[in-house]
Amino acid sequence: AGGKKEDKTLIVATDNSFVPFEYSDKDSGEMKGFDIDLMKAIAKEAGLKIKFKPMKFDGIVPGLKSKRWDMGIAGMSITDERKKSIDFSDPYYESGLIIGVQADNTDIKGSEDLAGKKVSTKTGTTSQDYLKNKIPEAKSVAFPEINQAYQELSAGRVDATLYDMPNLAYYIKTKAKGKIKMVGKKMTAESYGIGFPKGSDLVGKVNKALKTIRDNGTYDKIYKKWFGEKP
Ligand code: GLN
Repeated sequence: AGGKKEDKTLIVATDNSFVPFEYSDKDSGEMKGFDIDLMKAIAKEAGLKIKFKPMKFDGIVPGLKSKRWDMGIAGMSITDERKKSIDFSDPYYESGLIIGVQADNTDIKGSEDLAGKKVSTKTGTTSQDYLKNKIPEAKSVAFPEINQAYQELSAGRVDATLYDMPNLAYYIKTKAKGKIKMVGKKMTAESYGIGFPKGSDLVGKVNKALKTIRDNGTYDKIYKKWFGEKP
């Protein structure tokens, strides 16, 4: 299905590690995840040739702004701040931030308990902004890779981690069962969108393809593969 092939291979910037949305497969070295499958399905539908370029998350928006990449998919939350420098597709995933603490922690139950506490997170993300703007009384420590932030929590060098709920949930399920737990409610409602340089003519093509694969069941199939149940 879809439009006619374009010759140019488009560069799609992605996060080098944001499970289960994008990560490098241990054996093949290939990028895998929900975003990767979704982007491939969109590209196929829209007749676009793409190539993934994994990088640190905080390099994605600047590179889109300067047109070094054609698109960016990285569990990237659509924010007014980012919209000043890049364009976004329609939302493709509903997310939000949540707090993680050590499993035996009893004094942190929600964001109101973070004042004066050390909280780890990832550089350049909405959780770093949230800590800075909404909980300035917390001592925020940001790392370029979220795994470092989780390690600080496991080692007890920070009191909590604030980050995207689906990533923390997946991390706990696969790596930290019985060691880390989530507390409180989802603190924000954030939608993930695909990013583009401002004015890119790919936005319309991608939105059209996204709508088609949502309507024809492809999106649900990919969702089920990575998250189990339907949205
Ligand atoms: N959704 C968060 C943000 O946009 C984190 C994304 C990520 O770390 N890949 O800032």
